[in-house]
Amino acid sequence: MAVTSPKTYLAPELGDMKAEDFRRLGHDLIDWISDYFEKIDDLPVLAAIEPGDLKAKLPSIPPAHGEAMENIVADLDRLIVPALTHWSHPSFFAYFATSTSAPGIFGELLSAAFDNKAMLWRTSPASTELEEVVLDWLRQMMGLDPGMQGIIYDTASVSTLHAIAAAREGVERRIREEGMSGRPDLPLLRVYVSEQSHSSVEKAVITLGLGQRGMHKIPTDSEFRLDPKALAEAINEDKRNGYLPFCIVATVGTTSTSSIDPVREIVPIGEEHAMWLHVDAAYAGSAAIVPEFRYILDGCERADSIVTNPHKWLFTPFDLSVLYCRHMDLLKRAFSLVPEYLRTPEQEKVRSGSDYGIQLGRRFRALKLWMVMRYFGHEGLAARIREHCRLAQLFTSWIEESPDWEIMAPVPLALVCFRAKPSGTDDLDALNEAIMHGVNASGRALLSHTRLNDKLTLRLSIGNIRTTEQHVRDVWQLLNEQLQLLR
Ligand code: PLP
Repeated sequence: MAVTSPKTYLAPELGDMKAEDFRRLGHDLIDWISDYFEKIDDLPVLAAIEPGDLKAKLPSIPPAHGEAMENIVADLDRLIVPALTHWSHPSFFAYFATSTSAPGIFGELLSAAFDNKAMLWRTSPASTELEEVVLDWLRQMMGLDPGMQGIIYDTASVSTLHAIAAAREGVERRIREEGMSGRPDLPLLRVYVSEQSHSSVEKAVITLGLGQRGMHKIPTDSEFRLDPKALAEAINEDKRNGYLPFCIVATVGTTSTSSIDPVREIVPIGEEHAMWLHVDAAYAGSAAIVPEFRYILDGCERADSIVTNPHKWLFTPFDLSVLYCRHMDLLKRAFSLVPEYLRTPEQEKVRSGSDYGIQLGRRFRALKLWMVMRYFGHEGLAARIREHCRLAQLFTSWIEESPDWEIMAPVPLALVCFRAKPSGTDDLDALNEAIMHGVNASGRALLSHTRLNDKLTLRLSIGNIRTTEQHVRDVWQLLNEQLQLLR
């Protein structure tokens, strides 16, 4: 960090940092972040360290006395940056590639300054009301039904947990009051998902005390989409066995391939059995703001809840997940507890975030989303997502034109599943794994993998705000270099 003054920035004896020091260091820190983004292309995407390397360089005892701030910031360069995997690197193509953006960073900074604990309306009217307005904007942008109201949680895992808790409240078996254990009157409650669903659904089922037995995984078709016929059969069979099917979780944009479950065909199955339909659109939901991709939410107007993560593909810094729910009353019934010390005169007229979840205090997350949405606008955000999808199609076309590579799943959005299959190589899993490790070890790009039809498959996910066509061309070249080395 370029601290230009010879002064030492030590903490005063009491109280916080002096205003003039904060101002000076704050400017320097923003300079530091700007430099970081400017040089990020030259940093290795994957942290080039071994487990334990950073810990070994840090003191094992806490600092007894305050240290000069400029020394702490100097350690960012010396210790922290080398131990970072750079999610903001434009050649980060692993998992779901996601990135922050400048207005989002400003939003985080301000949220830390305000440090509101938005548990009640009065402890943060700005957070409560901005959240309601911003989530309604996003609902409109995604073309969701006006009957859906949004609430912010940290992650999709937590949003989905809350959706299933609300669904469970809806079965009217007094589970909130009496729990589930030791109850001979309670049948096995079951949640239905596809085999491609995200592990967060299973974790939610475990956390809610439904047990892994309470989850039924349904097979998928050749394009990794939940098979509605198999779903209907499974529910009927479970009912014949005396179980209580109460919730279906469909996925729009699965983690392995971004496949899109046929929600429109799933809806009547859920309705026939009075089940809750939750849609996990954690990744793909953002794409629905692009008019030509709105079809991915086809049928979701009849879902009970849907989760989407602006921290995945809406250039909002981690964390910010949105749960849209048609039955906020059930969510509230599942979680609201108002002890005397939290009672307020206005409580009947306003929304208090703590009524809708396990947390009491809540961060002012809406601020960063507000800044991102206003700075880029609907059209600007849509243009960036559209460009990512164009780049994914371009990469797909190179794979399709090459005899050495093959596509492993349809590419509806910006995730490409592929693998090398040069003639004369028997162990394609080992080859592809070695290619991936080679690319990742180069530090020039980062890929991840999955297994499809028992074949090791490489994943290239495009979602970073800084990724350009050149970055995609570079990773294609890198992949081919690795293939030539290893074949
Ligand atoms: N659902 C899907 C489809 C995902 O791909 C992911 C993460 O990649 C999640 C849920 C979990 O997201 P989070 O990290 O916000 O809990």
